[in-house]
Amino acid sequence: MPEGADELAGLERRRAELYRELGQVGDFRRGSLNEVRRKCGKPGCACAAADHPGHGPQWNLTRAVHLKPGPELEKARREVAEYERFRDLVGQVTEVSEEICQARPAAPGDAGGGALPGTGGEKDDMHPAGPVAG
Ligand SMILES: [Zn+2]
Repeated sequence: MPEGADELAGLERRRAELYRELGQVGDFRRGSLNEVRRKCGKPGCACAAADHPGHGPQWNLTRAVHLKPGPELEKARREVAEYERFRDLVGQVTEVSEEICQARPAAPGDAGGGALPGTGGEKDDMHPAGPVAG
């Protein structure tokens, strides 16, 4: 077994796990929930006091969706959390995949001999032809 094949197989397993997990992410939406309190501006109102936090709270989601405490807020919270999970998984898949790219040796035929149109005669300094070093 060539050196590095174990590592490569492990990385591929890890990536497959991440894909599986991606398939289990629930409804998600972009954005974050921010708790907002506001002063109404009425002089006689309790919120006029300097130490009053302001009316609310109100949770703002992306694009001016205003939610009050309750089922809708909890639903949005879950959806935003799933988006965070999705993004985290995508980041992990990307990292693992890049490691796989590094670990996977070039297959015979990958180097040069290009049958691709438009690549004939181009000099590719990044991938010198000839024996592979290291
Ligand atoms: Zn007020």
